[in-house]
Amino acid sequence: MRQVCVAVALLLLFGCGQSGKEPGQSAKTGQQKKQSKDVKELKLWGVSAGLDASVRPPCATAGFYPPDPKALKDELRKYLTAANPQKPDGTILGIVSPHAGFLFCWRTAAYAYKLLMGKKLDLVLILSTAHTGITSVCDAAFYRMPWGDVPVATDVVKALTKSGKFRYAPTAHEREHGVETQLPFLCFVMSDFKIVPVVVGANANGKEKTLAEALLNATKGKNVLVVVSTDLTHYPDHETAKRVEEEFLECVKTLDIGKIKEASARLVKKNAERGVECVACGLEALCVAVEYLKARGAKKFLVLHHADSYENIKALPSKERYGIKPDKSRVVGYASCVFVGD
Ligand SMILES: [Zn+2]
Repeated sequence: MRQVCVAVALLLLFGCGQSGKEPGQSAKTGQQKKQSKDVKELKLWGVSAGLDASVRPPCATAGFYPPDPKALKDELRKYLTAANPQKPDGTILGIVSPHAGFLFCWRTAAYAYKLLMGKKLDLVLILSTAHTGITSVCDAAFYRMPWGDVPVATDVVKALTKSGKFRYAPTAHEREHGVETQLPFLCFVMSDFKIVPVVVGANANGKEKTLAEALLNATKGKNVLVVVSTDLTHYPDHETAKRVEEEFLECVKTLDIGKIKEASARLVKKNAERGVECVACGLEALCVAVEYLKARGAKKFLVLHHADSYENIKALPSKERYGIKPDKSRVVGYASCVFVGD
């Protein structure tokens, strides 16, 4: 019965969830064996907020990730072990990661997170799609997760609201899964950091540079990793998704938000009849991140893994699919990418 409920919930979660063994692995190299051992030793990091702390409760446990910490760790280990990302030449300053249900996108998400294993930094700036459309910081002191609490850099959040460029809108965070769904991987591959949770909506269009400047001022002098939480196309067929997303990701490599926004608008218009409603639900979050990261020295954008809901379900053994069938006719796309500096 539980399995049936999970499957029903998961069916809603291959996209944004609005209301929602790597195949072909060859023999392992010495490096892969070492990485597998390191993955086995990972733990979920969190702190205890205390009774009086302001806490943002979880909203995405049903289907986005397993709420039971043991089951969660098993899934994280499985996907991280299978991921085999190409190591970039330079420093990783930011990543792009999807935010759908784990069966649909963790095969892809694990690629960027695997490169962050053991990384030490002060802040993780999470720039997520705002599925409500409202751009907002979160003013809670902690994100509560099933295994512990994740501290928010409240000093940075205060500086952002004080700048007048950001505000706190409670409704933008109450049911928003875009930040929360990054925390299982983040707290598994790293520890001892604070997050800056920001959701960026369509109302940020045209203000990307101004928002990036406010973020740069508020995080000056800190060692920051940016996580852009976004999915790609909704909901064309598999072949259209592949073609449209390859063209879009190629354009992101220019790190020119004018070109990125133009490509998004053009691709949606040209492929609307094939079901393309958007090319990246977090387009504005991505553009703010590009401006922020260029100012922090990002020179390259690399795609580590690119797949869609059809391919990722198909890659799972049948018994691990919770009854979900790989569907080629209507997909959501996902990419795991890195922004790299010198
Ligand atoms: Zn989304």
